[in-house]
Amino acid sequence: MKVAIDGPAGAGKSTIARAAAAELGFVYIDTGAMYRAVALHCVRKTVNTKTDTEAVIGLLPEIKIIIRHVDGIQRIFLNGEDVSDAIRTPEISVAASDVAVIPEVRQKLVQLQRELSETADVIMDGRDIGTYVLPDAEVKVFLTADVNARAMRRYKELCEKGTETTLPDVLRDMQYRDANDAGRSFAPLRQAEDAVLVDTTTLSPEASIASVIDIIRGAKDVL
Ligand code: C5P
Repeated sequence: MKVAIDGPAGAGKSTIARAAAAELGFVYIDTGAMYRAVALHCVRKTVNTKTDTEAVIGLLPEIKIIIRHVDGIQRIFLNGEDVSDAIRTPEISVAASDVAVIPEVRQKLVQLQRELSETADVIMDGRDIGTYVLPDAEVKVFLTADVNARAMRRYKELCEKGTETTLPDVLRDMQYRDANDAGRSFAPLRQAEDAVLVDTTTLSPEASIASVIDIIRGAKDVL
């Protein structure tokens, strides 16, 4: 079974997908981590991800990404190095959204995502899973929330990790990413026609998780 969870940054996708996967015995696949790993490689090579598309494309052949699950937790390896933590910085969030606009980047990662979806029952989260990567997914959820609520959540997360930032900076980065993700021409962020919309603005994490689990269980019963 394939479950697609899409939506903008900070809507709660990863928290909800991870918890639902653990509860239902699915494998959770975080596709954003793959775009982040590509971005990390480019940033380390001092490529300007916003303006130097050719350089990003030129680096693709030397980027090898492997996904492993350790105790149910996804770890991502970039050329053999575990970069699961290194990709979680505000700089890499923005660079990931820049490289994600490039069709060549997407094609490389979508191939890996489709291969992974064949190996187990999966819950995959991202921006284009229901519309492009897994159009035949049995369940599609589009998670959203008000941009201010999303920025506040991400700001708290970053503070908890000890990252120095401000709420206006987080809000600005989020609006930049929203515009990039929804505005690109290749596989933009949008709700699939057959996706169920869940707005988490006023929902607690527990209530959001429960509502998505209900949707998946409901579909399983029908299948
Ligand atoms: O989900 P996360 O915030 O980790 O994703 C980082 C960036 O990767 C997003 O802002 C988006 O630009 C890109 N992305 C994408 N398609 C996906 C997953 C992520 O374009 N399926």
